[in-house]
Amino acid sequence: MADVDLAKWEPVIGLECHVQLATRSKLFSWAPTTFGAPPNTNVEPVSLGLPGVLPVPNRTAIDYAVRMGLATDCTIRRVSRFARKQYFYPDLPKGYQISQFDEPLCEHGRVRFPFAGTMHEVSLVRIHVEEDAGKSVHAGARSLVDFNRASVPLVEIVSAPDLRSAAEAAEYLRMVRRLVRYLGISDGNMDEGSMRCDANVSVRLRGEREYRPRTETKNVNSFKNVEAAIDHEIVRQVRLYERGQTVVQQTRLWDAERGVSAAMRSKEEAHDYRYFPEPDLPPLVIDDALLAASRAAIPELPLARRLRFSEGLGLSDYDAGVLTEERELADYFEAAVAAGADAKKAANWIQSELLRELNREGKRPAEAPVAPGALAELVRLIDDGTLSGKIAKDVFAKMYTSGEGARAIVEREGLLQVSDTVALEAACRKVVADHPKEAARLPENPKLMGFFVGQVMKATGGKANPPLVNQILKKVLDGG
Ligand code: MN
Repeated sequence: MADVDLAKWEPVIGLECHVQLATRSKLFSWAPTTFGAPPNTNVEPVSLGLPGVLPVPNRTAIDYAVRMGLATDCTIRRVSRFARKQYFYPDLPKGYQISQFDEPLCEHGRVRFPFAGTMHEVSLVRIHVEEDAGKSVHAGARSLVDFNRASVPLVEIVSAPDLRSAAEAAEYLRMVRRLVRYLGISDGNMDEGSMRCDANVSVRLRGEREYRPRTETKNVNSFKNVEAAIDHEIVRQVRLYERGQTVVQQTRLWDAERGVSAAMRSKEEAHDYRYFPEPDLPPLVIDDALLAASRAAIPELPLARRLRFSEGLGLSDYDAGVLTEERELADYFEAAVAAGADAKKAANWIQSELLRELNREGKRPAEAPVAPGALAELVRLIDDGTLSGKIAKDVFAKMYTSGEGARAIVEREGLLQVSDTVALEAACRKVVADHPKEAARLPENPKLMGFFVGQVMKATGGKANPPLVNQILKKVLDGG
């Protein structure tokens, strides 16, 4: 990349993001939407586009799309319209896709997200509802088609060209995924194609006001690939301009394995699709009841929750970010705090011990064998001096495997922190008596104090209260 001077150029990026809605049936029929079903089993006459069938909109899909619109401050169009988008492709049995064109369900929204230490905001042009196509499968010399995905509901979220770097685009996309997960409208799983992204990229000289021709890179299916594909496209375009050539408006396909893109077709315009209002469907009316139900289903959103955790509960911005990444984890944390755990300490335990175990086992926070109330009890036992921090980690491991409460384990195994001064003094005197050479060298080498504390901790099986041991040792070594 050393042959181009990127600093002179400003990238201009907009993303079109398709998100599969987690409904049980398809957008216009009763056919199931289960992922991974045997090919062509989730089909019926409507998804196969057989003659004489009529589509019936799925109310849940519309509700989910309205939720996304409300969560991103869109204007919800009370009467919107489905439109036919005509194109030929083997996986599109009707020869057209039912989508929305000039009267989409949601318009003029925004997505806010923290990035590189500041709050960023990207405008949304629109969010519309449409059906997915099927899938072509290329097996050796043969090409097969699977219609399971045909007519599965999607929302297409179209951003304005407000993004200025590949990393910012990826962060925007992460916020979109957090939003759809918090809203419960999609699993946002990029591996399974529940979220797919097309990136519109152009570059212009810094200070230039007009946009230059853009390219669209299709179907980029991971955050890593979004960044890589956009960065690659920025460099490709800058290189062309610096050689005195021009950028042609076109659709390109990203090859994730080779890390390059190739021209797929010259960019199509809306008129190429011969859009017209879908004659088989009446206008889509969002009545007051649906709007109210969609609004009522919206939980506290990730950004608001993150700010509440940092500003309200005093967590660092980093901790607040980790804990609000998934709604379930944020719920777990809040339940522990509600059960009496100190917020910062609960945050530490969740991020270190709990997440490590959950990640190791591939479990979700709601499946954790240590309930939030049990974690709160453990944190309180450390706070009140019953349990040393070191032993608490062992107790946590036992709680995780057995599902038992902290107090039950501590009492059964005799793990209470020893704060009994008589017992501790006896232990301290024995350690000092056993190590006369070290005791003699202590005045010129104060670091040896650590050695003595360590010996007492060892002698008490790690159960001694360390500040108390320090205090008693000083007294004993001073000849007290
Ligand atoms: Mn689309």
